[in-house]
Amino acid sequence: MSSSATALVLDDGFARELPEMALAWQAADAPNPRLLVLNEPLAADLGLDAGWLRSPDGVGFLIGRSLPEGATPVAQAYAGHQFGGLVPRLGDGRALLLGEIVTPDGGRRDLHLKGSGRTPFARGGDGLAAVGPMLREYVISEAMHALGVPTTRSLAVTATGSDVVRETMLPGAVLTRVASSHLRVGSFVYAALTRNDDLLRRLADHAIARHHPAAADAERPYLALFESVLDVQASLIARWMLLGFVHGVMNTDNMTISGETIDYGPCAFMETFDPATVFSSIDHAGRYAYGNQPAIAAWNLARFAETLLPLIDEDADTAIGLATESLGGFGRRYEAAYTEGMRAKLGLANDEAADGLASGLLELLADNHVDYTSFFHALTAAARDDAEPARGLFADLAGVDAWLARWRDAGPDADAMSRVNPVYIPRNHLVEEALAAATDGDLAPFTRLLEAVGAPFDERPGLERYAEPAPVDFGAYRTFCGT
Ligand code: AMP
Ligand code: MG
Repeated sequence: MSSSATALVLDDGFARELPEMALAWQAADAPNPRLLVLNEPLAADLGLDAGWLRSPDGVGFLIGRSLPEGATPVAQAYAGHQFGGLVPRLGDGRALLLGEIVTPDGGRRDLHLKGSGRTPFARGGDGLAAVGPMLREYVISEAMHALGVPTTRSLAVTATGSDVVRETMLPGAVLTRVASSHLRVGSFVYAALTRNDDLLRRLADHAIARHHPAAADAERPYLALFESVLDVQASLIARWMLLGFVHGVMNTDNMTISGETIDYGPCAFMETFDPATVFSSIDHAGRYAYGNQPAIAAWNLARFAETLLPLIDEDADTAIGLATESLGGFGRRYEAAYTEGMRAKLGLANDEAADGLASGLLELLADNHVDYTSFFHALTAAARDDAEPARGLFADLAGVDAWLARWRDAGPDADAMSRVNPVYIPRNHLVEEALAAATDGDLAPFTRLLEAVGAPFDERPGLERYAEPAPVDFGAYRTFCGT
């Protein structure tokens, strides 16, 4: 257990192996740092002593100001397609990779800051972040983790003591983020654009060693890398879809090589089932709508494949043929993961029965404007012979009754359902309520929300309001990027 900065080792594997993509930089100072929330179980997983992290030295570490000897924080370079348009140079404008921690169980985790000041990649931005959006990333990423979805984690949010200028003045904060790595599709786009094949190869080898080691032994390791990423992304997007999660900004710089969900900006959970659901204030065309996410993932993977072509085969036509064939497998893999997950949500063992039931159900949910999460929770009760909560969600009673009868005939397992259908998700009105209070200095609603969504499958008395959809007067929900 590391209980001081000096006892800690922060490795610089990324910066050492890929110096062209790592710009040494320091975190900005904070006039009056104050720890708002610390993830003690995650600290323990990382081998960090929570008591120390709460001390002034530990808080200095969490904002990147008191680092172990030899640590070399860097801003990472990457490119990205933002809403489909290529931006050749994005990079960490307000973030830093502090280094990599080797955990007690032998894993390697990036320790990363968000809101740590301007870097040379900041363009017009101020390099800062506000308390609300950083707590938002904290609670939603931790909810995703508790829901079993691969994700970056949140170790801490520290208020800086200075204000940031948004539409109003807001208290500033730094998020300390933990991830398997921060390698993105956009990292490969950046490397490919340099036309330096040696850099591209080193990046691909680095990604293989770190995330997809089996690819090293394949006949074509870089094609195998592509297929491994395709696999983890197909499975990830299926998880999002099964939970009603809308990422909101699936730019290629926000898609990881590890298969973890990253960048909790304008994301939100869908309430009423509707494939056209969009929350982001800037997503006017609905590019990143709930129902578009699998297609966008495939689009992003095509951009990834393009970067790998020179490594896949010397002959461009051969490389394109191989990559195209692999990319064609995405739909199949996604469908398989989604179908299996939907079968589990319905509590069914028989795939064929589940398939027919699922498509009919989604239509019913859409037509009746049913809250997606509440429905599956209520359906779990229906599997225990209380169908009234589920029926109560529908205007078309004849329609739902006919569906329920077919579903019951397939023999649903209530206990299995309660393990995959959450009772509590970070609902938009509760998130807003918690962040507004925290911005005014009251962390109690945030702490309660975090407790509810931290054990999402475990229904507890007293938490009824955390299981309910937003009141109608909450209205249409809008979220924002770059906050
Ligand atoms: P995101 O929308 O968070 O994925 O960020 C996209 C790009 O904008 C990245 O290069 C970020 O580093 C950069 N960025 C977002 N907000 C800021 C900010 N306040 N200051 C500097 N750069 C920012
Ligand atoms: Mg991003």
